[in-house]
Amino acid sequence: MVRLQLKQNVGRTPRFHYFFDDEPRCRRMTPGPTSIIECPSCGALHQLATAASDNTFGGILWSDGKLEAPMLFNCPELARCVSCRALFWLKSAKTVGVLPTLPFAPERSWRVTLCDTGANRVNVMAVLRRHLAVDMTQTKQFIANLPVLVAFGAGTSNDGTALMQDLLTAGAVATHDVTIEAQSPTETPIPPAWIAAPLVPPMQELDFLDAVDSCLWSDAQSEVRIRTATLHAGNDPFRQTPADWQPLTDRHSLAMANALVLFDLLSPNIVTENLLRAEIAREQGLFGEALRIASAPSPQERLSHERLAAELVARAERRDSALFSVDLADEQSFT
Ligand SMILES: [Zn+2]
Repeated sequence: MVRLQLKQNVGRTPRFHYFFDDEPRCRRMTPGPTSIIECPSCGALHQLATAASDNTFGGILWSDGKLEAPMLFNCPELARCVSCRALFWLKSAKTVGVLPTLPFAPERSWRVTLCDTGANRVNVMAVLRRHLAVDMTQTKQFIANLPVLVAFGAGTSNDGTALMQDLLTAGAVATHDVTIEAQSPTETPIPPAWIAAPLVPPMQELDFLDAVDSCLWSDAQSEVRIRTATLHAGNDPFRQTPADWQPLTDRHSLAMANALVLFDLLSPNIVTENLLRAEIAREQGLFGEALRIASAPSPQERLSHERLAAELVARAERRDSALFSVDLADEQSFT
């Protein structure tokens, strides 16, 4: 790498790290490297995207247990080879390399260091709270440890400029450092086959049903995960268009069979698994059975999905089999 230092950073080693680029850290997913993997059957190369970090902020929890959130990276376990169509476990695929983030775009990183608040300390604190979404205690910690690194990140959509301008307007003394890393021409070139490799395609319901039909698991836990993922994939179309809802009994016979086997594999003694048992009964239109399962005494003092359980019972009572969701924020307020 060639590092082009546009401006030397001043200030000592920061005590507080606060990351953000587009949004505060609590709301962001950080993309990870793209791996190049080989199909275990035919050796065809595929690109596999990863996330360095993610989160469930703003998420929703579906009645079948699927969790969706804008910044949540759902890492797949299985894949179907684009070339030979074989199904394989991603953990069993050999990784032959990792695509660098360069040379497709130079990496631009930045940091803002607050050196002094100046005379108008209250205004500077207000700027920090507004830009960094920190509370008063955290803001005071910044102020008590000057000079301090208050923000840094990567990318150009938010490069700290707005924060820096508002700090200066409020009378603070601060520095804004930007570093751009470019690829050295002497570095080993990326094999063209890596760049041309297709992305691992997302698994569809029929792919999962093939995996179930092939018993593509090595233990009881992975069988439950694959059968649950199969149920989720079958329900996915109804997340987009709830009006088209079809109960499990009206679906592909293999999808129905998978749900019945999954029901038997799930434990009534684990709250989340027991709720999924109730959901599978409800999605078949077996409302009495769903109520009996969901109303059974919990082996734990508190339900981990209290809101979901209450809604599931209410829907079973009015003989409604359709998929539904609850906000994860509401759910978490109960736990
Ligand atoms: Zn293959």
